[in-house]
Amino acid sequence: MSLLVRGGTVVSPAGRRVADVLCEGERIAAVLDPGAEVRADEVIDAAGLLVFPGFIDPHIHPRDPGDTHKEDFAHASRAAAAGGVTTLLVMPNAVPPVTDVASFRRRAEEHGAVAHVDFGLWGLSLGMANIGDLAGLFAEGAVAVKLFWGYALDKESKRLVYNTADRAPEDVIPPASTGEVLEIFQAIAGASGILAAHCEDRDILEVAQRQLGHAPEAYTELKIARPDVAESSSVAVGIELARATGCHFHVCHISSARATHLVRLAQQDGLPVTAETCPHYLLFVAADCAGRDAAMKAYPPVREVADRDALWAGVADGTIASLGSDHAPHTLADKTQAFATAPAGMVAVETMMPLLLDQMKAGRVTAERLCWAASEGTARLYGLYPRKGVIRPGADADLVLVDPDAVWTIRGEELHSVQKHTPLEGTAVHGMPVVTILRGSVVARDREPVGEPGGRLVRRNPEGGS
Ligand SMILES: [Zn+2]
Repeated sequence: MSLLVRGGTVVSPAGRRVADVLCEGERIAAVLDPGAEVRADEVIDAAGLLVFPGFIDPHIHPRDPGDTHKEDFAHASRAAAAGGVTTLLVMPNAVPPVTDVASFRRRAEEHGAVAHVDFGLWGLSLGMANIGDLAGLFAEGAVAVKLFWGYALDKESKRLVYNTADRAPEDVIPPASTGEVLEIFQAIAGASGILAAHCEDRDILEVAQRQLGHAPEAYTELKIARPDVAESSSVAVGIELARATGCHFHVCHISSARATHLVRLAQQDGLPVTAETCPHYLLFVAADCAGRDAAMKAYPPVREVADRDALWAGVADGTIASLGSDHAPHTLADKTQAFATAPAGMVAVETMMPLLLDQMKAGRVTAERLCWAASEGTARLYGLYPRKGVIRPGADADLVLVDPDAVWTIRGEELHSVQKHTPLEGTAVHGMPVVTILRGSVVARDREPVGEPGGRLVRRNPEGGS
């Protein structure tokens, strides 16, 4: 089976050019000057469209197994395809989580049976409880290990415990101490892996909340209860642990100017430190959340104009190597409670790329930089390059055809997740992924998933190769 994508503008981080992309089977066979004489079983006319390497969302929580009334992997992966994403990297905090080789293999099998796009798996750090399992996870192909730094975990389910006050100490795995986190860095350095962390210093959060005097009741209070210094101080400690151990330290969902500054300095020192941010931090500031406070609730919170601008600067200069949705669905009932008790997280995998393409159209980011952060840079970071993240012969034929001029309005009821609500209800966006191609097969067209689930596990391979 061969597929020719004819006459589109092929985007790479280095530039764009009009070209024909020939796919043979699951791989890209050739990138040809337009109009070349080639025969193919199927031809897609891409004139006027941008052709990106398939987008990669490295940060989703599909709640599967565990809370499948909130989301499941079949739905999340269909939503991904509809939104132009061809590879998902799945966060490990389902119930049960991925914490060792056996749970990794089980999850790979479960997800592989329903995946509409390709996927990689994260492993979860349980502090000292599974430090001996981390090397095995990387040997198996885990893309990274996640440390929910500062959070206690339920001993039984391994769920995050957001409030330890009402829990008996014997029922929780306490947060790792800084010394124990150093040991986790050492273990992951030894496995040539990546330690990725949620960075908000727990002690600073506790003090900030005490100074506020009560649980935050609106977004304007959330940013007081979870200040930027909580993030930046945690990032600073992580950078020093990376410096001491040589471990690759990755900051998940970076939200502040201060933390971005520290990551940039660490990179200038030659340290293996990288960062990811999410559309909500790039698009919004706290003041924008008035009226949809609980819907927009996320940890860390969205912040101020200076933070947002610093994140865009980080995307532009490469300090921020990767963009993730932090897709973390809850029910509508969860997200319409009072702000103080509403859980953090939102439905986001399907809207991530449309929102970023809209920002591209508005001139906030170039197609080349978007291509880097949402595809090639992310593929390189997680050891998926050059199989993923690039349009060149030999790579997987993962392509997203984008109509930069199409305008559509985000409607929750049109999303493909289990939960069909979004804080962006009614937002008009310019730019639409119109065809999503996974390893040579069309998996979504005009924002609708098509075909049977054919997604497969991808494994981290730091040396590259296929
Ligand atoms: Zn997350």
